[in-house]
Amino acid sequence: MSTAAPRDDRSRVAVVTGGGRGIGRGIVEELAAARFSLVVNYRDDLESAAACCRQAESLGSPTAIPIRADVSDLVQGRRLIDETIGQLGRIDLWVNNAGVAPRVRRDLLEVTPESWDHVVGTNLRGPFFLTQSVSGALIRLQEQGLVREPQIVFITSISSTHASINRAEYCVAKAGLSMVAQLFAVALAPRGIRVYEVRPGIIDTDMTRAVHEQYSERIAAGLSPIRRWGTPRDVGRAVAAIASDSLPFSTGEVIHVDGGLHLRTL
Ligand code: NAD
Repeated sequence: MSTAAPRDDRSRVAVVTGGGRGIGRGIVEELAAARFSLVVNYRDDLESAAACCRQAESLGSPTAIPIRADVSDLVQGRRLIDETIGQLGRIDLWVNNAGVAPRVRRDLLEVTPESWDHVVGTNLRGPFFLTQSVSGALIRLQEQGLVREPQIVFITSISSTHASINRAEYCVAKAGLSMVAQLFAVALAPRGIRVYEVRPGIIDTDMTRAVHEQYSERIAAGLSPIRRWGTPRDVGRAVAAIASDSLPFSTGEVIHVDGGLHLRTL
């Protein structure tokens, strides 16, 4: 029988950016079941974020609160960190989940600077500077003895490595974000802060609604070895596994949640 004192999971705090729906909500649900207190960040849909918080508390989260912030805005990002610490006192897990697809899928030769700025600003520039600020906050919380070994997770995409020429700006942003995860993993490891990349494949959310029929046919035909759509809770379970502290000697690790889509076959 283990003699180790049980860890008090109830007091741990996780922040999930864009947590009100889709993959973010799947992550919130799994972390709630693991008894994390939660901040559900949202940009403009308070109703969904508030409903998500109520659900989180019904699943076991001691407290779940919505906080508004646009993660592509650096000032709002810093306010999200400050408000979290102000209201919940600590941050043990930061999940960079919020992201956007191009408003219009255009061929590589037709990508507009506006779409580039929108997608790269939200999916790469925003999370980079936000994580810079989060890192500083986590180090201060450690120095104050308020957290021990906090963790950061980046939700990237199969698009980090797989070229889709009808959404180049998304692929570029996600490939960049994969490197951002590695950089912060290296920089923060000596301080006992571990960083992970969760790389989803094709997940059934609003983001993939427009291509649902097309992907359903390709999945049924064997696009991924596991022939089904991924669900937000598939991704949530991977994040909850990281949050369970089961990977103490791993950092910068990529966890594929894609039914094997990334595997090369012959
Ligand atoms: P979604 O569109 O359902 O949800 C995205 C969430 O992010 C929404 O709540 C949205 O309001 C929020 N958001 C967008 N811009 C924001 C901003 N500037 N500030 C704060 N919040 C913002 O999409 P999803 O499928 O749940 O995607 C979540 C993440 O997973 C994204 O980073 C996406 O790129 C990634 N991803 C999705 C898939 C997929 O197949 N659905 C696959 C791989 C990776």
